[in-house]
Amino acid sequence: MTEKTIGIIGGGQLGRMLAMAAARLNFRTIILEPQADCPAAQVASEQIAAAYDDAAALADLAKRCDVVTYEFENVPVHAAEKLAKDVDVYPPPKALEMAQDRLTEKRFINDCGIPTARFRAVDSQADLEAALADFGGKGVLKTRRLGYDGKGQRVYRSAADSADGGYAALGSVPLILESFVSFEREISIIAARGIDGTVACYDPAENVHRDGILHTSTLPARISEQTTAAAFMAAEKILTALGYVGVIGIEFFVLSDGSLIANEMAPRVHNSGHWTEAACIISQFEQHVRAVAGLPLGNPERHSDCVMTNLIGDDILALPEWLRLDDALVHLYGKSEARPGRKMGHVTQLLR
Ligand code: AMP
Repeated sequence: MTEKTIGIIGGGQLGRMLAMAAARLNFRTIILEPQADCPAAQVASEQIAAAYDDAAALADLAKRCDVVTYEFENVPVHAAEKLAKDVDVYPPPKALEMAQDRLTEKRFINDCGIPTARFRAVDSQADLEAALADFGGKGVLKTRRLGYDGKGQRVYRSAADSADGGYAALGSVPLILESFVSFEREISIIAARGIDGTVACYDPAENVHRDGILHTSTLPARISEQTTAAAFMAAEKILTALGYVGVIGIEFFVLSDGSLIANEMAPRVHNSGHWTEAACIISQFEQHVRAVAGLPLGNPERHSDCVMTNLIGDDILALPEWLRLDDALVHLYGKSEARPGRKMGHVTQLLR
């Protein structure tokens, strides 16, 4: 078999786990990432140390790779589109475009026939006050772009909070106000679409966040078969509408009647899918590699119940205890400094 090369834009832990899965299937990987000795480059074949939109570096990547993918959704769309003229880029740049701006994303999800929270674009303090009044004084104000792990957000719980200068506080950048969703639980779906259009969905994970960052993902989620089926159907609609190739992560709120409200999608492997490496034969990382390389998708079936716990910042100090547990798969990301809020690794405990 000839050795093929996969380019990965972004050098964090997701790139690292993709590179490891790729190596197992005999692929070489080249990481495009400005930071030297990043988590992905430690385990990949090579690194090009340059900015994600550096034209010369992208041209070099295109020349040396059979296919290029990415591990985060803030790759500049223009850079991905330009790259796609020279080499296959999966997931397609259109997915980046839809996921980078919360307003575009919500409109797209609604166009697929999937409900979201109500939303309004906010471009001034006056817009914010009008939108809050419309939503009964409650809502979640978010930056449209570049928000992650609950950063760039402000929650309004009553009309009394409404005129607090929230527009300026979030940086006077384009914002979105979402109506406040009183959900019963949060779930996510990790799904994949192959080059031939085949779709494979992993079981929904039930997610708990702490300080806006994913803390645990538990399988199975406490939801009905109907809710699971609705989540699968939503994922399939989104993947098909985008002509998608690769793995996607889609987060939903589950209401008390079991219905779903889509929150956001990430056109990449996802933190709430890390459990798949321990509880499925084919992990989300291998599934993504298979999809973008044009190989058949693997079976997404889950063989065990499990709980995945993120090790964030000083959580890493408990490593010796995690290592003593039976049925626990520890995965560390090669980051030397444990800053607060920094994802250092994760553990998946099989429940049996
Ligand atoms: P996000 O960055 O959109 O994933 O939001 C981070 C977290 O904030 C979510 O996982 C929810 O727990 C909460 N959240 C976000 N949007 C809403 C909303 N419209 N209503 C209620 N809670 C929300």
